[in-house]
Parts: sequence; structure tokens; C-alpha cells
Amino acid sequence: MGVHTAYIGAGSNMGDKLLNCKNGISALTTTRNVVEKVWSRFYKTEPVDYKNQDWFVNAVVKVETTLAPLELLKRLKAIEREAGRVDGAIRFGPRVLDLDIILYDDWVTNSSELVVPHPRMHKRRFVLRPICDIDPKIVHPVFKKEMQALLDVLDENDQRIVEYRCDY
Ligand code: ADP
Ligand code: MG
Repeated sequence: MGVHTAYIGAGSNMGDKLLNCKNGISALTTTRNVVEKVWSRFYKTEPVDYKNQDWFVNAVVKVETTLAPLELLKRLKAIEREAGRVDGAIRFGPRVLDLDIILYDDWVTNSSELVVPHPRMHKRRFVLRPICDIDPKIVHPVFKKEMQALLDVLDENDQRIVEYRCDY
């Protein structure tokens, strides 16, 4: 079985965005087989792919888990549904809660259900910035570059993010 390290991205741009992210991660880490290790800070982030929607709140959490990748994904989807997420028509459109597997050990997969590392993580400041809070030296298992280096080449005016100052 073994214990694996995964990085989970949480995002919300509907309702109480911060609470939705926190509750989503809590729902994940109150199960015995997923243990919370480190949180990033929270960020308010500009929508990237589909621009005509409200800003997001995003964070990343490092977890240790005995769940296999597909089991972890199934759990994330169940939590999204419990949070009231409905599958809308707009790809990358508004959502109550989005939980993604960003990294799972050094594992690399590309199936119809699951792509790890997350296929857009290296282009997204709202993923890389919070990951760098946790550890900027994590190496992307495909590009063999550190998270900080991936972040540094992205235009900060194109994808604006600001720290969400809150008591947590
Ligand atoms: P996105 O997070 O890219 O905005 P969705 O949350 O709507 O998109 O996810 C669409 C599908 O992406 C999910 O049903 C899931 O099967 C698939 N998927 C592929 N790779 C991942 C991953 N690493 N983490 C989460 N979902 C993933
Ligand atoms: Mg998702």
C-alpha cells in the first residue's frame, strides 16, 4: 500500500469562496487515509481560461495518503458534488468547488480520467504561487524544473493574484 505525497489544488468562485475551499480540504483530510501536512496561503486570483466570471479563491494543500490516484480522484469528485457543484455547460466556468490532483509523488500518467501532473499546472500562477509557499524546490516530474522556475517565467500581469489575508 504505502504512503504517498500528493498536492491538491482547491478553488472556488461562487458563494463563500474561502469557506468552500477550506471545507473542501477539511472534508478530504478528515478521512483516515488522507492526512493534511501543509497548507499554502490563500489567494484571490483572476480567472484564466474563461475570463467572463468572478475572481477565484485558490490554495494548495500537501497531503499524505494511502489512497491510489484514482481513489483519491473519486474522493475529490464526491466532495465537489457534496459542496453543491453541478456540471455546467461552460468549460473552466464558475464553480462552487474545484479540487484537483496537482502532483502525486513523482507519478506521471495520462489517461482519459486522470492526468498527473495536472496538465495545466505549469501554466497557472494560481497553482504555482501557492505550491511555492509549501516548497519552491519541488521538481516537476515531466519538465524537470523546479516550481519556482516554472512560476518565474509566467507573466504576473496576465494572471493576477493577490494574497487573501485572513485568520486561519
Ligand atoms: P478543471 O479542473 O480542469 O477546470 P474539471 O474540474 O471540470 O476541470 O475536471 C474535468 C475532469 O478532469 C474530471 O472529471 C477529471 O476526471 C479530469 N481530470 C484529469 N486529470 C485530473 C487531475 N489531475 N485532477 C482532477 N481532475 C482531473
Ligand atoms: Mg477540476
